Amino acid sequence: MSRLVMKFGGTSVGDMDRIRNVAAHVKREVDAGHHVAVVVSAMAGTTDNLVNLCNEADPRHDRREYDSIVAAGEQISSGLLAIALQKMGVKARSWTGWQVPIKTTSDHGSARIEEIDADNMAARMEDGEVSIIAGFQGVTAENRIATLGRGGSDTSAVAMAAALDARCDIYTDVDGVYTTDPRIAKHAHKLDRISYEEMLEMASLGAKVLQTRSVELAMVYKVPLQVRSSFDPPDNIPNVPGNNFGPGTLVCDEELIVEQQVVSGITYSRDEAKVSVRHVLDKPGISAAIFAPLSKAGVVVDMIVQNVSPDGKYANVTFTVPAKDLDRAVESLEQSKDDIEFDTLEHSSNVAKISVVGVGMRSHAGVASKMFETLAAHNINIQAISTSEIKTSVLIDEDYTELAIRSLHTAYGLDEEQE
Ligand code: ADP
Ligand code: ASP
Ligand code: MG
Repeated sequence: MSRLVMKFGGTSVGDMDRIRNVAAHVKREVDAGHHVAVVVSAMAGTTDNLVNLCNEADPRHDRREYDSIVAAGEQISSGLLAIALQKMGVKARSWTGWQVPIKTTSDHGSARIEEIDADNMAARMEDGEVSIIAGFQGVTAENRIATLGRGGSDTSAVAMAAALDARCDIYTDVDGVYTTDPRIAKHAHKLDRISYEEMLEMASLGAKVLQTRSVELAMVYKVPLQVRSSFDPPDNIPNVPGNNFGPGTLVCDEELIVEQQVVSGITYSRDEAKVSVRHVLDKPGISAAIFAPLSKAGVVVDMIVQNVSPDGKYANVTFTVPAKDLDRAVESLEQSKDDIEFDTLEHSSNVAKISVVGVGMRSHAGVASKMFETLAAHNINIQAISTSEIKTSVLIDEDYTELAIRSLHTAYGLDEEQE
Protein backbone atom coordinates (compact mmCIF):
# COMPACT_ATOMS: atom_id res chain seq x y z
CA MET A 1 0.00 0.00 0.00
CA SER A 2 1.55 3.28 -1.00
CA ARG A 3 2.11 6.24 1.25
CA LEU A 4 0.88 9.64 0.14
CA VAL A 5 1.23 13.18 1.53
CA MET A 6 -1.45 15.55 0.19
CA LYS A 7 -0.92 19.31 0.60
CA PHE A 8 -3.69 21.89 0.21
CA GLY A 9 -2.97 25.63 -0.15
CA GLY A 10 -4.83 28.66 1.18
CA THR A 11 -7.44 29.05 -1.57
CA SER A 12 -8.13 25.32 -1.45
CA VAL A 13 -9.14 25.61 2.24
CA GLY A 14 -10.58 29.16 1.86
CA ASP A 15 -13.99 28.44 3.45
CA MET A 16 -15.99 25.57 4.93
CA ASP A 17 -17.32 24.43 1.53
CA ARG A 18 -13.80 24.30 0.15
CA ILE A 19 -12.61 22.40 3.25
CA ARG A 20 -15.38 19.84 2.68
CA ASN A 21 -14.21 19.57 -0.94
CA VAL A 22 -10.65 18.92 0.31
CA ALA A 23 -11.98 16.27 2.69
CA ALA A 24 -13.62 14.55 -0.31
CA HIS A 25 -10.25 14.52 -2.15
CA VAL A 26 -8.62 12.96 0.91
CA LYS A 27 -11.40 10.40 1.30
CA ARG A 28 -10.99 9.39 -2.36
CA GLU A 29 -7.34 8.50 -1.76
CA VAL A 30 -8.09 6.72 1.52
CA ASP A 31 -10.84 4.70 -0.19
CA ALA A 32 -8.37 3.86 -2.99
CA GLY A 33 -6.29 2.16 -0.31
CA HIS A 34 -3.50 4.71 0.22
CA HIS A 35 -1.96 5.55 3.57
CA VAL A 36 -2.49 9.28 3.72
CA ALA A 37 -1.11 12.24 5.69
CA VAL A 38 -2.24 15.79 4.89
CA VAL A 39 -0.49 19.16 5.21
CA VAL A 40 -2.60 22.32 5.11
CA SER A 41 -2.01 26.06 4.71
CA ALA A 42 -4.03 28.67 6.56
CA MET A 43 -7.37 29.72 5.02
CA ALA A 44 -6.73 32.29 2.22
CA GLY A 45 -6.00 35.77 3.59
CA THR A 46 -5.49 34.60 7.19
CA THR A 47 -1.69 34.76 7.22
CA ASP A 48 -1.71 38.22 5.58
CA ASN A 49 -4.10 39.46 8.27
CA LEU A 50 -1.92 38.04 11.04
CA VAL A 51 1.22 39.62 9.54
CA ASN A 52 -0.61 42.98 9.35
CA LEU A 53 -1.64 42.69 13.00
CA CYS A 54 2.00 42.15 14.02
CA ASN A 55 3.04 45.23 12.07
CA GLU A 56 0.21 47.22 13.60
CA ALA A 57 1.32 46.16 17.10
CA ASP A 58 4.88 47.29 16.35
CA PRO A 59 6.66 47.45 12.99
CA ARG A 60 9.86 46.41 14.81
CA HIS A 61 8.15 43.46 16.54
CA ASP A 62 9.98 40.55 18.18
CA ARG A 63 10.36 37.80 15.52
CA ARG A 64 9.61 35.05 18.05
CA GLU A 65 6.22 36.57 18.78
CA TYR A 66 5.63 37.13 15.05
CA ASP A 67 6.07 33.39 14.54
CA SER A 68 3.73 32.38 17.31
CA ILE A 69 1.06 34.71 15.87
CA VAL A 70 1.35 33.94 12.14
CA ALA A 71 1.52 30.16 12.72
CA ALA A 72 -1.98 30.30 14.22
CA GLY A 73 -3.80 30.18 10.86
CA GLU A 74 -2.68 26.64 10.07
CA GLN A 75 -3.84 25.40 13.48
CA ILE A 76 -7.39 26.44 12.59
CA SER A 77 -7.49 24.97 9.05
CA SER A 78 -5.99 21.66 10.20
CA GLY A 79 -8.60 21.31 12.96
CA LEU A 80 -11.47 22.18 10.61
CA LEU A 81 -10.31 19.61 8.05
CA ALA A 82 -10.04 16.95 10.76
CA ILE A 83 -13.66 17.64 11.78
CA ALA A 84 -14.84 17.56 8.12
CA LEU A 85 -13.12 14.20 7.61
CA GLN A 86 -14.48 12.75 10.84
CA LYS A 87 -17.97 13.79 9.72
CA MET A 88 -17.44 11.79 6.51
CA GLY A 89 -16.47 8.76 8.56
CA VAL A 90 -12.71 9.02 7.98
CA LYS A 91 -10.47 8.56 11.02
CA ALA A 92 -8.51 11.84 11.30
CA ARG A 93 -6.50 13.89 13.81
CA SER A 94 -4.89 17.35 13.53
CA TRP A 95 -1.30 18.12 14.56
CA THR A 96 0.63 21.37 14.94
CA GLY A 97 4.32 21.51 14.00
CA TRP A 98 5.59 21.18 17.56
CA GLN A 99 3.35 18.20 18.25
CA VAL A 100 4.76 16.12 15.37
CA PRO A 101 7.56 17.35 16.14
CA ILE A 102 9.06 19.17 13.14
CA LYS A 103 12.36 20.50 14.47
CA THR A 104 13.70 23.68 12.89
CA THR A 105 16.55 26.17 13.12
CA SER A 106 15.99 29.31 15.20
CA ASP A 107 15.83 31.73 12.23
CA HIS A 108 12.40 33.05 13.12
CA GLY A 109 10.34 33.94 10.06
CA SER A 110 12.54 31.88 7.71
CA ALA A 111 13.47 28.78 9.71
CA ARG A 112 14.74 25.63 8.01
CA ILE A 113 13.56 22.15 8.89
CA GLU A 114 16.38 20.16 10.54
CA GLU A 115 14.68 16.95 11.52
CA ILE A 116 11.26 15.32 11.64
CA ASP A 117 10.45 12.61 14.10
CA ALA A 118 7.88 10.83 11.93
CA ASP A 119 7.46 7.59 13.93
CA ASN A 120 4.14 8.61 15.46
CA MET A 121 2.72 9.81 12.10
CA ALA A 122 3.93 6.63 10.39
CA ALA A 123 2.30 4.42 13.04
CA ARG A 124 -1.00 6.30 12.69
CA MET A 125 -0.80 6.01 8.89
CA GLU A 126 -0.38 2.24 9.18
CA ASP A 127 -3.36 2.24 11.52
CA GLY A 128 -5.53 3.93 8.85
CA GLU A 129 -5.72 7.28 10.62
CA VAL A 130 -5.22 10.43 8.54
CA SER A 131 -2.89 12.92 10.22
CA ILE A 132 -3.61 16.54 9.29
CA ILE A 133 -0.43 18.52 9.87
CA ALA A 134 -0.35 22.31 10.17
CA GLY A 135 2.04 23.49 7.45
CA PHE A 136 4.51 26.40 7.58
CA GLN A 137 5.67 25.71 11.14
CA GLY A 138 7.97 23.80 13.43
CA VAL A 139 9.66 24.06 16.80
CA THR A 140 13.17 25.34 17.64
CA ALA A 141 15.68 23.81 20.05
CA GLU A 142 14.60 26.59 22.47
CA ASN A 143 11.07 25.16 22.32
CA ARG A 144 9.62 28.14 20.45
CA ILE A 145 7.31 27.99 17.41
CA ALA A 146 9.13 28.94 14.19
CA THR A 147 7.75 29.54 10.68
CA LEU A 148 9.38 28.57 7.40
CA GLY A 149 8.88 31.74 5.31
CA ARG A 150 5.86 32.66 3.19
CA GLY A 151 4.59 29.76 1.11
CA GLY A 152 6.31 27.39 3.55
CA SER A 153 3.55 24.77 3.70
CA ASP A 154 4.90 23.34 0.44
CA THR A 155 8.16 22.71 2.26
CA SER A 156 6.39 21.15 5.25
CA ALA A 157 4.64 18.76 2.86
CA VAL A 158 7.76 17.68 0.97
CA ALA A 159 9.71 17.28 4.23
CA MET A 160 6.91 15.12 5.67
CA ALA A 161 6.87 13.04 2.47
CA ALA A 162 10.65 12.56 2.68
CA ALA A 163 10.40 11.56 6.36
CA LEU A 164 7.55 9.13 5.65
CA ASP A 165 9.04 7.80 2.40
CA ALA A 166 5.88 8.89 0.63
CA ARG A 167 5.08 10.63 -2.64
CA CYS A 168 3.71 14.15 -2.43
CA ASP A 169 0.71 15.74 -4.17
CA ILE A 170 0.52 19.54 -3.96
CA TYR A 171 -3.07 20.69 -4.54
CA THR A 172 -3.44 24.35 -5.44
CA ASP A 173 -5.70 26.75 -7.36
CA VAL A 174 -4.22 25.98 -10.81
CA ASP A 175 -4.03 22.53 -12.37
CA GLY A 176 -0.25 22.30 -12.62
CA VAL A 177 2.97 24.14 -13.41
CA TYR A 178 2.61 26.35 -16.49
CA THR A 179 5.15 27.78 -18.93
CA THR A 180 4.52 31.09 -17.16
CA ASP A 181 2.08 32.41 -14.57
CA PRO A 182 -1.30 31.58 -16.18
CA ARG A 183 -2.77 34.65 -14.49
CA ILE A 184 -0.47 36.88 -16.56
CA ALA A 185 -0.35 35.13 -19.95
CA LYS A 186 -3.52 33.46 -21.14
CA HIS A 187 -1.56 31.49 -23.76
CA ALA A 188 0.52 29.80 -21.05
CA HIS A 189 0.27 26.03 -21.23
CA LYS A 190 0.54 23.35 -18.62
CA LEU A 191 3.68 21.24 -18.51
CA ASP A 192 3.09 17.49 -18.05
CA ARG A 193 6.55 17.14 -16.54
CA ILE A 194 9.30 19.49 -15.39
CA SER A 195 12.74 18.60 -14.02
CA TYR A 196 13.60 19.33 -10.38
CA GLU A 197 16.39 21.59 -11.58
CA GLU A 198 14.18 23.74 -13.81
CA MET A 199 11.45 23.91 -11.18
CA LEU A 200 14.04 25.01 -8.65
CA GLU A 201 15.17 27.87 -10.93
CA MET A 202 11.58 28.83 -11.75
CA ALA A 203 10.57 28.88 -8.07
CA SER A 204 13.60 30.88 -6.99
CA LEU A 205 13.06 33.33 -9.87
CA GLY A 206 9.47 34.09 -8.90
CA ALA A 207 7.09 31.23 -9.85
CA LYS A 208 5.32 31.08 -6.50
CA VAL A 209 3.43 27.89 -7.31
CA LEU A 210 6.01 26.02 -5.18
CA GLN A 211 8.24 27.41 -2.43
CA THR A 212 11.89 27.14 -3.55
CA ARG A 213 12.97 25.17 -0.50
CA SER A 214 10.28 22.53 -1.14
CA VAL A 215 11.75 21.83 -4.60
CA GLU A 216 15.26 21.68 -3.15
CA LEU A 217 14.13 19.07 -0.62
CA ALA A 218 12.23 17.07 -3.24
CA MET A 219 15.33 17.01 -5.43
CA VAL A 220 17.68 15.94 -2.64
CA TYR A 221 15.37 13.27 -1.21
CA LYS A 222 13.98 12.20 -4.62
CA VAL A 223 10.39 12.80 -3.55
CA PRO A 224 8.04 12.38 -6.54
CA LEU A 225 6.13 15.66 -6.58
CA GLN A 226 2.86 16.23 -8.38
CA VAL A 227 1.21 19.67 -8.66
CA ARG A 228 -2.54 19.48 -9.29
CA SER A 229 -5.80 21.34 -8.71
CA SER A 230 -8.10 21.02 -5.72
CA PHE A 231 -10.80 22.52 -7.98
CA ASP A 232 -10.99 19.29 -9.97
CA PRO A 233 -14.08 17.39 -8.83
CA PRO A 234 -12.91 14.91 -6.16
CA ASP A 235 -14.88 12.02 -7.60
CA ASN A 236 -13.79 12.58 -11.17
CA ILE A 237 -10.04 11.95 -11.13
CA PRO A 238 -9.01 8.78 -12.92
CA ASN A 239 -7.23 6.43 -10.56
CA VAL A 240 -5.51 4.30 -13.13
CA PRO A 241 -3.88 1.18 -11.69
CA GLY A 242 -0.13 1.36 -12.21
CA ASN A 243 -0.30 5.13 -12.73
CA ASN A 244 -0.32 6.77 -9.35
CA PHE A 245 -0.01 10.24 -10.66
CA GLY A 246 -3.22 11.24 -12.40
CA PRO A 247 -3.52 14.76 -13.85
CA GLY A 248 -1.30 17.78 -13.11
CA THR A 249 2.44 18.34 -13.49
CA LEU A 250 5.03 15.85 -12.31
CA VAL A 251 8.26 17.38 -10.97
CA CYS A 252 10.87 14.68 -11.58
CA ASP A 253 14.36 13.76 -12.72
CA GLU A 254 15.47 15.19 -16.06
CA GLU A 255 15.92 11.67 -17.49
CA LEU A 256 12.17 11.04 -17.20
CA ILE A 257 11.36 13.89 -19.58
CA VAL A 258 11.11 12.66 -23.14
CA GLU A 259 10.49 15.83 -25.14
CA GLN A 260 12.79 18.39 -23.58
CA GLN A 261 12.24 21.99 -24.73
CA VAL A 262 15.13 24.50 -24.94
CA VAL A 263 13.13 26.94 -22.82
CA SER A 264 10.61 25.46 -20.38
CA GLY A 265 9.34 28.55 -18.65
CA ILE A 266 9.36 32.29 -18.10
CA THR A 267 9.15 33.86 -14.68
CA TYR A 268 8.91 37.31 -13.16
CA SER A 269 9.65 38.77 -9.78
CA ARG A 270 8.72 42.19 -8.49
CA ASP A 271 10.44 41.50 -5.19
CA GLU A 272 13.75 43.15 -6.09
CA ALA A 273 14.93 46.76 -5.92
CA LYS A 274 17.74 48.48 -7.82
CA VAL A 275 20.53 50.52 -6.19
CA SER A 276 23.06 52.61 -8.14
CA VAL A 277 26.23 53.89 -6.51
CA ARG A 278 27.37 56.75 -8.77
CA HIS A 279 30.78 58.15 -9.57
CA VAL A 280 33.17 56.03 -7.52
CA LEU A 281 36.89 55.79 -8.32
CA ASP A 282 37.50 52.76 -10.59
CA LYS A 283 40.32 51.25 -8.52
CA PRO A 284 41.09 47.86 -6.95
CA GLY A 285 39.05 47.29 -3.82
CA ILE A 286 36.10 49.49 -4.79
CA SER A 287 33.67 46.56 -5.15
CA ALA A 288 34.81 45.20 -1.80
CA ALA A 289 34.19 48.64 -0.23
CA ILE A 290 30.63 48.73 -1.62
CA PHE A 291 29.58 45.15 -0.92
CA ALA A 292 31.21 44.60 2.51
CA PRO A 293 28.76 46.88 4.38
CA LEU A 294 25.85 45.17 2.61
CA SER A 295 27.00 41.72 3.62
CA LYS A 296 27.53 42.95 7.17
CA ALA A 297 23.93 44.21 7.16
CA GLY A 298 22.80 40.75 6.00
CA VAL A 299 21.60 42.01 2.62
CA VAL A 300 21.86 39.52 -0.26
CA VAL A 301 22.89 41.06 -3.58
CA ASP A 302 21.67 39.50 -6.83
CA MET A 303 22.44 41.17 -10.18
CA ILE A 304 25.49 43.48 -10.53
CA VAL A 305 26.49 45.82 -13.39
CA GLN A 306 29.45 48.19 -13.54
CA ASN A 307 29.83 51.02 -16.09
CA VAL A 308 33.20 52.75 -16.43
CA SER A 309 33.56 56.38 -17.63
CA PRO A 310 35.26 56.92 -21.04
CA ASP A 311 38.48 58.11 -19.35
CA GLY A 312 38.53 54.92 -17.25
CA LYS A 313 38.74 56.81 -13.95
CA TYR A 314 35.24 56.50 -12.56
CA ALA A 315 32.52 53.86 -12.39
CA ASN A 316 28.82 53.56 -11.62
CA VAL A 317 27.94 50.33 -9.84
CA THR A 318 24.34 49.12 -10.09
CA PHE A 319 22.95 46.07 -8.29
CA THR A 320 19.72 44.56 -7.01
CA VAL A 321 18.68 43.61 -3.47
CA PRO A 322 15.43 42.14 -2.12
CA ALA A 323 12.90 45.02 -2.04
CA LYS A 324 12.19 44.30 1.64
CA ASP A 325 15.88 44.98 2.45
CA LEU A 326 16.19 48.20 0.42
CA ASP A 327 16.06 50.59 3.40
CA ARG A 328 18.68 48.55 5.24
CA ALA A 329 20.92 48.46 2.15
CA VAL A 330 20.72 52.23 1.61
CA GLU A 331 21.33 52.94 5.29
CA SER A 332 24.45 50.75 5.39
CA LEU A 333 25.87 52.37 2.22
CA GLU A 334 25.20 55.89 3.52
CA GLN A 335 27.05 54.98 6.70
CA SER A 336 30.06 53.86 4.62
CA LYS A 337 30.04 56.93 2.34
CA ASP A 338 33.46 58.09 3.57
CA ASP A 339 35.06 54.74 2.68
CA ILE A 340 33.35 54.29 -0.69
CA GLU A 341 33.57 57.96 -1.68
CA PHE A 342 30.57 57.90 -3.97
CA ASP A 343 28.88 60.96 -5.42
CA THR A 344 25.23 59.97 -5.22
CA LEU A 345 23.14 56.96 -4.32
CA GLU A 346 20.02 56.23 -6.36
CA HIS A 347 17.44 53.55 -5.77
CA SER A 348 14.16 52.34 -7.22
CA SER A 349 11.63 49.60 -6.48
CA ASN A 350 9.92 50.13 -9.80
CA VAL A 351 11.77 47.23 -11.44
CA ALA A 352 10.98 43.62 -12.34
CA LYS A 353 13.25 40.68 -13.00
CA ILE A 354 12.20 38.56 -15.99
CA SER A 355 13.87 35.19 -16.49
CA VAL A 356 13.83 32.44 -19.11
CA VAL A 357 14.58 28.96 -17.78
CA GLY A 358 15.43 25.73 -19.56
CA VAL A 359 17.95 22.90 -19.35
CA GLY A 360 18.19 23.07 -23.16
CA MET A 361 20.28 26.24 -22.76
CA ARG A 362 23.23 24.05 -21.86
CA SER A 363 23.42 22.79 -25.42
CA HIS A 364 21.69 25.47 -27.53
CA ALA A 365 23.26 28.80 -28.45
CA GLY A 366 21.24 31.95 -29.03
CA VAL A 367 18.71 31.71 -26.20
CA ALA A 368 19.93 34.88 -24.48
CA SER A 369 20.27 36.85 -27.72
CA LYS A 370 16.69 35.97 -28.67
CA MET A 371 15.61 37.38 -25.30
CA PHE A 372 17.47 40.66 -25.87
CA GLU A 373 16.21 40.99 -29.46
CA THR A 374 12.61 40.37 -28.43
CA LEU A 375 12.73 42.96 -25.67
CA ALA A 376 14.41 45.47 -28.02
CA ALA A 377 11.69 44.92 -30.61
CA HIS A 378 9.17 45.99 -27.96
CA ASN A 379 11.28 48.96 -26.90
CA ILE A 380 11.92 47.51 -23.43
CA ASN A 381 15.21 48.69 -21.97
CA ILE A 382 17.40 46.19 -20.08
CA GLN A 383 18.90 47.62 -16.88
CA ALA A 384 20.91 44.57 -15.74
CA ILE A 385 21.55 41.00 -16.84
CA SER A 386 22.53 37.81 -14.99
CA THR A 387 22.93 34.28 -16.26
CA SER A 388 23.52 30.75 -15.03
CA GLU A 389 23.78 27.44 -16.84
CA ILE A 390 20.02 27.08 -17.33
CA LYS A 391 18.61 30.62 -17.03
CA THR A 392 19.01 34.19 -18.27
CA SER A 393 17.51 37.04 -16.24
CA VAL A 394 17.06 40.71 -17.09
CA LEU A 395 15.99 43.67 -15.00
CA ILE A 396 13.43 45.98 -16.62
CA ASP A 397 11.00 48.76 -15.73
CA GLU A 398 8.16 47.16 -13.76
CA ASP A 399 5.51 48.75 -16.00
CA TYR A 400 6.62 46.47 -18.88
CA THR A 401 6.38 43.20 -16.92
CA GLU A 402 3.34 41.77 -18.68
CA LEU A 403 4.41 42.92 -22.15
CA ALA A 404 7.85 41.34 -21.65
CA ILE A 405 6.42 38.03 -20.45
CA ARG A 406 3.87 37.77 -23.25
CA SER A 407 6.29 38.68 -26.01
CA LEU A 408 8.99 36.29 -24.74
CA HIS A 409 6.42 33.53 -24.35
CA THR A 410 5.53 33.93 -28.03
CA ALA A 411 9.16 34.33 -29.17
CA TYR A 412 10.22 31.02 -27.61
CA GLY A 413 7.27 29.21 -29.19
CA LEU A 414 5.59 28.48 -25.87
CA ASP A 415 2.10 29.80 -26.72
CA GLU A 416 -0.69 27.26 -26.46
CA GLU A 417 -2.36 26.87 -29.80
CA GLN A 418 -5.84 28.37 -29.63
CA GLU A 419 -8.77 26.52 -31.15
P1 ADP B 1 -1.33 27.90 -2.64
O1 ADP B 1 -2.11 28.81 -1.77
O2 ADP B 1 -2.11 26.72 -3.09
O3 ADP B 1 0.02 27.54 -2.06
P2 ADP B 1 -0.04 29.84 -4.38
O4 ADP B 1 -0.79 31.12 -4.60
O5 ADP B 1 1.10 29.86 -3.43
O6 ADP B 1 -1.09 28.71 -4.00
O7 ADP B 1 0.51 29.28 -5.78
C1 ADP B 1 -0.37 29.12 -6.87
C2 ADP B 1 -0.28 30.33 -7.79
O8 ADP B 1 1.03 30.37 -8.38
C3 ADP B 1 -1.20 30.29 -8.98
O9 ADP B 1 -2.46 30.82 -8.65
C4 ADP B 1 -0.47 31.10 -10.04
O10 ADP B 1 -1.00 32.40 -10.19
C5 ADP B 1 0.96 31.23 -9.49
N1 ADP B 1 1.99 30.89 -10.47
C6 ADP B 1 3.08 31.65 -10.75
N2 ADP B 1 3.81 31.08 -11.70
C7 ADP B 1 3.21 29.92 -12.04
C8 ADP B 1 3.50 28.88 -12.99
N3 ADP B 1 4.58 28.92 -13.76
N4 ADP B 1 2.64 27.83 -13.07
C9 ADP B 1 1.55 27.77 -12.29
N5 ADP B 1 1.22 28.72 -11.38
C10 ADP B 1 2.02 29.79 -11.26
N1 ASP C 1 0.03 30.33 5.25
C1 ASP C 1 1.41 30.59 4.88
C2 ASP C 1 1.50 31.74 3.89
O1 ASP C 1 0.48 32.31 3.54
C3 ASP C 1 2.12 29.37 4.37
C4 ASP C 1 1.56 28.80 3.08
O2 ASP C 1 0.45 29.14 2.67
O3 ASP C 1 2.25 27.98 2.46
O4 ASP C 1 2.58 32.12 3.51
MG1 MG D 1 1.84 28.56 -1.99
